[in-house]
Amino acid sequence: MIRYGEIFLKSEPVKRRFISMMVKNIGLTLEAEGLSHRIEAPRGRILIFGDEPGRIAEVAARTFGVVGASICTVTTADIPGISAAAEERAERCILPGESFAVRARRSGVKGFSSQELAAAVGSAILNRIPEATVDLTTPDCEIFVEAREFGGLVYDEVIRGPGGLPYGTQGEVMGLLSAGIDSPVASWLMMRRGCLMVHVHMRGGRFGGADMEGTVLRHHARLSAWISAHPLDLLVVDMEPFFEAITALEEPRYRCILCKRFMLRVAGILARERGAHALVNGDNLGQVASQTLANLAVVAPAASIPVLRPLIGFDKEEIVERARAIGTFEAQPGDIGCAIAPRHPSVAAPATTIAQIEEKIGVDDLAVRAAGTVRRYRAKNGVIEGEAQTPGFGVSPPGRSHRG
Ligand code: ATP
Ligand code: MG
Repeated sequence: MIRYGEIFLKSEPVKRRFISMMVKNIGLTLEAEGLSHRIEAPRGRILIFGDEPGRIAEVAARTFGVVGASICTVTTADIPGISAAAEERAERCILPGESFAVRARRSGVKGFSSQELAAAVGSAILNRIPEATVDLTTPDCEIFVEAREFGGLVYDEVIRGPGGLPYGTQGEVMGLLSAGIDSPVASWLMMRRGCLMVHVHMRGGRFGGADMEGTVLRHHARLSAWISAHPLDLLVVDMEPFFEAITALEEPRYRCILCKRFMLRVAGILARERGAHALVNGDNLGQVASQTLANLAVVAPAASIPVLRPLIGFDKEEIVERARAIGTFEAQPGDIGCAIAPRHPSVAAPATTIAQIEEKIGVDDLAVRAAGTVRRYRAKNGVIEGEAQTPGFGVSPPGRSHRG
């Protein structure tokens, strides 16, 4: 049984559309895993029937929009039917000397309240296992029962899902993947929120770390495993000519601002070409010099479409924790630094100076040229297909500065 969260609050037609999208995503994911199944979506719940309920629950519980998955017994929607199944579960779940609680819900069923249901099921369990004790606050074992229009459900475990909205219910966005910890988390958060994702990585060539592209490809592949029903594209763009232009300038301290603006400019061009509605990046307030409030304000206007920054208010610890849970955290990502980050980057670049420098290097031309260098990598189910050469997998020594 799949439980969803805030989709409940939507209007009927929106709810129907979101649920059918989630059912489709779950179905395709189970198919990709070779799990035969049948899905029903009665009011309030999604039910999946199959021979391998354990694996089905585990796989389905990773789908965006899913709040929880449970392996259930389906019964009739009345107290005797639910009690009988609950007693059986209790016998398996409550060990000698343990306490239990019954958690009951009722929706669209008349004749008893959820409290009455809980009390009836509780005494049935005590009848069957007289040595068990009831503890409603910190029970050793919880028995969940639900009486719904379509029948009764009995279960004793909930596998937590990622929540969010079904993938594909929001528009397309373009996520900027660096090779660092933050950007994959930012991308995951927007995918979880239902956005169709396309990734873009700006290749620094000889100015970027040797392991950047390999690391980005790994992150990209891992993120694709969260939406196994869908392919996920990564566009790789060559930024080397831009770096040549800015390293020829006298003043190094604006490099990071120029670089971040250039990335947004190029990503904006690519996003517009595809009809994507917004860019997503891993900006995090105060993390590095280019992410002071003053500099974010100078960088932002370079994008021709909105920039979403889901990590802006996170602490680094929280981002790392998320990255671990998502599967993109790497303790030793290798050489992913920038070779030309200045020792003392400006924390408040003057917008007019930046505009003058950009004019001088012919930034518009450079951006259009960069946007013309796209190579595409398609990932599905955690694997890169197509142009699948994954360079730079080795770990090389650190040493490059990484100030951003
Ligand atoms: P991350 O933020 O992913 O840990 P980082 O901290 O090195 O990497 P920042 O310098 O903080 O990156 O850059 C802020 C954001 O800009 C990144 O989160 C990412 O979205 C985007 N970005 C940075 N470098 C690149 C790149 N080479 N290609 C694409 N996007 C990039
Ligand atoms: Mg960062």
